[in-house]
Amino acid sequence: MSEHLNYIGGAWIAAQAGGTFERRNPADQGDLVGVFPASTAADAASAVAAVKRSCGNWATLDPQARAGVLDKAADLILTRLESLAQELTREEGKILSAATQEWRRTAANFRLYAGEALRTRGETFPEAGKGLVCSIREPVGIVLAITPWNFPVSIPSRKIAPALATGNGVIYKPSEVTPLAGQRLVEILLEAGLPAGVIALIQGRGQDLGEPLITSDAVGAVTFTGSYATGCLIHRLAGPDKRLQLEMGGKNPCIVLQDADPARAAEIAATGSFSLTGQACTATSRVLIVGDIYEEVVRQIVARAKAFKIGNGLDPSVTMGPLASEAQYRRVREMIEVGMTEGLKLAFPLREPQPALPAGGYFVTPTVFIDVPKESRLAREEIFGPVVCVSRVESYAQALEYANSVDYGLAASIVTRDLSRALSFARDIDAGIVKVNSATGGVGLSAPFGGIKHSSNQTYKEQAGHGVMDFYTRTKTVYLAS
Ligand code: NAD
Repeated sequence: MSEHLNYIGGAWIAAQAGGTFERRNPADQGDLVGVFPASTAADAASAVAAVKRSCGNWATLDPQARAGVLDKAADLILTRLESLAQELTREEGKILSAATQEWRRTAANFRLYAGEALRTRGETFPEAGKGLVCSIREPVGIVLAITPWNFPVSIPSRKIAPALATGNGVIYKPSEVTPLAGQRLVEILLEAGLPAGVIALIQGRGQDLGEPLITSDAVGAVTFTGSYATGCLIHRLAGPDKRLQLEMGGKNPCIVLQDADPARAAEIAATGSFSLTGQACTATSRVLIVGDIYEEVVRQIVARAKAFKIGNGLDPSVTMGPLASEAQYRRVREMIEVGMTEGLKLAFPLREPQPALPAGGYFVTPTVFIDVPKESRLAREEIFGPVVCVSRVESYAQALEYANSVDYGLAASIVTRDLSRALSFARDIDAGIVKVNSATGGVGLSAPFGGIKHSSNQTYKEQAGHGVMDFYTRTKTVYLAS
């Protein structure tokens, strides 16, 4: 059994109260991934005090030295990609190719923000007289990063890397579902030369650690990705004088217009719905089909749902892994039950209970509900699993009305050959990420990423060049006179 520790004040230490929690492989509950510290408010206080003590020198270090650490971290990831990916699959459940892709993206993020460390700059402003007015940037101090389990290394990397690039200290609280991935990220940064004490890793439940960390006066910024419910709690705790970045849930639509090629539309809808076992904030959750291609697109989505091989993602022939946790499994099963109780029509699987699945893990069959009315709970609430609601609509205008009728606004896609319609969709849709002829999921390395409505508090999107660097720095306006 491997016992893991927090990293606080430059040392690996147990939780002060001695509590621990287990993480098991979601594809095989008999496989214990590790035992981790169940930290409490006392550990949170130590983490804040330790980073506060040590982060000042990091802020004044030559930016090239900070960039060098991030670059080296990227190198280290790429030299051990295979073992890191296997471990990620074992802990989170995503298939090996997706885990490999995630670690690659993490390395790319480190490189991206290594570059940003060298580009952070101020401005000068026109002013009467002989003086000079300029702005200078400095780190906000300590950044608290609270992250989810579904991208347990790439999401933290796009918070931790820009924070470190700009000279901040970091307190990192990974999801309790993926504590080992969080630990690996910190180990790699330390091995790459990050000075001891600039980062603290604190493991445990958000419910125990959120308040003491977020309300600490020493924390200057909180960056969070997770559910809307947790985001609302954090928003209340953070108060008015802390930087706060909240990236939250989605209920992402894919609109298929009648001029679309049905095979292409089905591929885009099914890829968006079922990749990563539907556990992406940008996953397609609703497919809105205009006109008489409805039956054909549904038939082909179902064919794709049927074709998945479900099992342990370490097996290279498997194309869909388990849900990541028991809580996730219960939630997704509950939402399927809600659909059945609401009398929704199942196009796949054709019966409940579902066909036989591998034993010992949190597996579900990709599920396609059809003719789903927009008032259905399934069509309105985030499910976060491989369950898609397909609806028949009369026109683009009705598709848009359905699409925009939910509280979320993260990603949306349209499948059409009509460019002018696609352009008006980009303007009309309530979403921060708009895709034309590609799946809702999958985003660019350096393009702005974030939602609107309940999907984000919309302060400085993630992964957004200068927008990101603005979040992690504050400016002072300096008036110089001779
Ligand atoms: P979650 O909100 O349950 O947990 C996210 C993080 O918040 C975890 O580290 C958790 O420990 C912590 N947390 C929980 N309660 C807390 C509290 N009271 N105070 C402080 N922290 C607390 O979300 P999850 O189940 O880990 O992730 C799934 C959710 O994340 C989905 O809603 C999904 O859409 C969303 N998500 C959004 C994005 C995005 O970029 N918009 C990306 C990935 C996931």
